[in-house]
Amino acid sequence: MDFGTHIHSEGEGIKELRAMENGIKRVVSYAFYPISPSAPETMIDMFRKLTTFEVSRAEKGITLYPAIGVHPRCIPLGYHKVFSFMEENPSKAFGEIGLETASDQEVAVVDHTNERTAGKILKAGYWTGLTLQPGKLSREEVEKIVEKYGFERFLLNSDTGFSDDELFAVSKIEYLLQKFDAREVEKLAFRNAEKFQ
Ligand SMILES: [Zn+2]
Repeated sequence: MDFGTHIHSEGEGIKELRAMENGIKRVVSYAFYPISPSAPETMIDMFRKLTTFEVSRAEKGITLYPAIGVHPRCIPLGYHKVFSFMEENPSKAFGEIGLETASDQEVAVVDHTNERTAGKILKAGYWTGLTLQPGKLSREEVEKIVEKYGFERFLLNSDTGFSDDELFAVSKIEYLLQKFDAREVEKLAFRNAEKFQ
């Protein structure tokens, strides 16, 4: 049962969500507003939508875990209101925040890494996200990274929703299974992610 550890469900139509559930049963959907918000309420309503409407829109076939957070490109004037809302409505997952900082490395993921950065991030003790998407990583690059660093502390994701994406990045893993041990590939595609549930 594959785990989509980084998607933006709001960018997906109901058809894509239904198609996705053929391979994926659980997803983390991240807060991100694609244009600069004009007021803090824009972000607050987006969080409310993500934690209610998006959860129920997915729930026919997928369990959706919402992650709320303020990306540097989504900081509105009066942002303290957004932070107050987040304090009053604590979320299990945070993101996306755009800054690679966290106090608890055990459950902090630095996402969208590549061949150049993955090693440093692992060394620093963080979990490492690999995003299979045009402009981020190709299948060949994913292969190269796990070949070099192994499968521990890696999470494969699609970041699908708001940009050119590989909707089935996490469920279509045959290319990895041809080369690597199935148990290792399973870790990358979903077992490692279970630690965050
Ligand atoms: Zn994202």
